[in-house]
Parts: sequence; C-alpha cells; structure tokens
Amino acid sequence: MQVLTSRQILDRLVMFPTVSRDSNLGLIDWLEGYLSGHGVRCFRHWNEDRRKAALIAHAGPWKAGALVLSGHSDVVPVDGQSWTTDPWTVSERDGRLYGRGTCDMKGFVALAVRALVEAQRRGVSRPLQLALSYDEEVGCTGAPPMIRTMQEVVPKGSAAIIGEPSRMGLITGHKGGTGYHVHVKGHEVHSSLLPYGVSAIMEGARLIDWLNDVNAELQARTPTPLAAAFHPPFTTLHVGMIRGGTAHNITAADCHFSVEMRVVPGESIPDWEARFEARVREIEAAMRKVRPEAAIHLDRFFGVPGLQPERNGEAEALVRRLTGDNATGVVSYGTEAGQFQQAGYSAVICGPGDIAQAHQPDEYLEISQFEAGQQFMERLLEALA
Ligand SMILES: [Zn+2]
Repeated sequence: MQVLTSRQILDRLVMFPTVSRDSNLGLIDWLEGYLSGHGVRCFRHWNEDRRKAALIAHAGPWKAGALVLSGHSDVVPVDGQSWTTDPWTVSERDGRLYGRGTCDMKGFVALAVRALVEAQRRGVSRPLQLALSYDEEVGCTGAPPMIRTMQEVVPKGSAAIIGEPSRMGLITGHKGGTGYHVHVKGHEVHSSLLPYGVSAIMEGARLIDWLNDVNAELQARTPTPLAAAFHPPFTTLHVGMIRGGTAHNITAADCHFSVEMRVVPGESIPDWEARFEARVREIEAAMRKVRPEAAIHLDRFFGVPGLQPERNGEAEALVRRLTGDNATGVVSYGTEAGQFQQAGYSAVICGPGDIAQAHQPDEYLEISQFEAGQQFMERLLEALA
C-alpha cells in the first residue's frame, strides 16, 4: 500500500465533513483501512447508536508503556460562516492551509497518522498509539468511554500528547469545567399576593446572587501557586442565559438559566458541584415552605476535568526534549488532556496551529506550523527507536 505524506493525509481527512452532529464513520473507515494496510493494529470504540466511532491504533511492539498521540475527529459546523474557500477541501494560499479542521485538529491527526505508519515501518522499541475521539467539540464527552476501551484492547500507554493547537509550545495545565441547566419551578399568583406564591425568577435570582458573592470572595483571595498562571487566576462561576415569567403582575412559574463553572487546577470539580447543589437545596427548602410543589431541577450538561501541571511529568519531559521549549504554558480552553490524566496517563498539550484560528470561517494552519509538527514527529520517532 502506498505511503502518503502528512500533507496528503491531511487532504483526505479534511474531505470528510465530520461535524460533531453527523457521523464520522467515513473518516474512521478510511483511516482504519490506511493504518491497517500498513500493519498498524486498529480497534474501534463505538458510540451508543453506532453512528460514530473512536479509533484506537497501536504501532510497534505489543507491550505496555506506549506514548499516546491524542486527537479528535470532529469539527465545528460551518453554518452561517462566510468562507472564501471550500471548507471541505484543503486550499493552499499565502503559506497557509485553509479548510475546516486544518488547525483544530486534523493537522495534528495527519502528523500522528504519518508517525504511526513510520513507527511500524521502521520498527521502534517503544510503542506509539493513536487515540482519535469523537464528540470533543460538544463538551469532550467522547474521550472518557474511548479511554476505558483503550484499557481493554491495547497495552496500557504511559504518557499522552494532546495535539490541540498550541503553536507547538508546551502546555501543562488548563482549567476544568462543569455546567448545569437550572429550572426553577415556582407557583403563579397575582403579584399583589406575592407572599402566597413562589416567584421562580426571584428565587433563581437568590442562586445567581450567591454565584456573584462567591465570585467576589474568590477574586479577593490570594491565588494559589497552581492557579497564579491563569487569567484570571481563580475559579469563575457564570450565568450565560436566562428566561422566565409571563407578565409583570404574575409571580413567575418558571425560570431557566445555565450555570457554568471554570475551575482552576488544584480545586476539585466535585467539591464545587457539591457546594453549588447544597445552596440549591437550601433555596428549594425555603420555597417549599410556601408551596410544597416548588422545586429546583438541575441537569448537569457537561463536566471536563482540568489539566493539572505534573511534578516531573513524563510527557512534559519528553515534549521539552523534543521542542526545546523551557517555558511553562497554561491555556484557558478545555481539552481531553485532563481526561487522560485522570485515567492515569502523564499528559500535556502540544500541537501545530493557533487556537485563534480554530472554529473561525477560513480556518487555516500555517505551513510553517505544519512543518514544525513534522520535525517534532521525526524527533519523536528517533526517541522511540
Ligand atoms: Zn480541538
């Protein structure tokens, strides 16, 4: 079977319109065929309705201790964006490769696929794995089940490089996050009879104001050394949407809003969830003293662990060696890196391209970044040899 260059692989990957809401099986079928055609062992983790699959691939000797290259197959939609090129074809112009996903993150995936084939062809003493997830762009929900399947189908890897765009710099930490859809269920009465009803809006406001109070308290504290690198250097609690009520003179029966928490490494997301839920139950108890059927319903719609900078981390040491990057970077966006770390892998982020180009119309990857990625993979192969 013909060996493709990283660039040829990227061209193929971009042609599959793997928007998160749609199936990614075209891409997975092609990639599995290509990798297994070169002797790389491939496995799938299927989602529930089998419309999507994650691809797990293993190159080199069948033993533990692999280095994992991690990426996601899905991309964000192009709907409503004005593109000057076809988003599903890589177009080269002015030293840039335009196309949806070139930056986030099919560029890295193409480099990784090339590296696996080379590892298999040349022979390496340390195995190299690819973990290609789905549903990353809709809240990193595809990686945890994929990582569980990896433990069953391939020998356990020890370190993971998550190739999200970092301009090939080393990123050792990011905030985690959790989010809730909140539905406050009150009781309607004429507003002149206010104390006999329960205004879902006014009760919801108590919860929102508690978030304000906690934000003020967090901002006033001295940041921990772990948090100090972040902007802002503390956890933030936010309400981004609210809706409720029907008239100025009726106590609102319903109020809906969404709460998002961005949690600095070193603080526990389950602790924050418990603290939030405890406050919800207090407010709900007071509402029920007026009307027993009043309630606050919570629907936790996402949860992504933070990436905690490691002490003497293996992944960090390796990437420092390969890139010569001696700085320490943290980012404000969430990735699958925290999920790998939680599963026992040493994990860092390092990938080509700039996050500023991700999700944009006319998304592009600079060719110089793609080339820096190729050099990185070449050094990586030498390190695995
Ligand atoms: Zn991404």
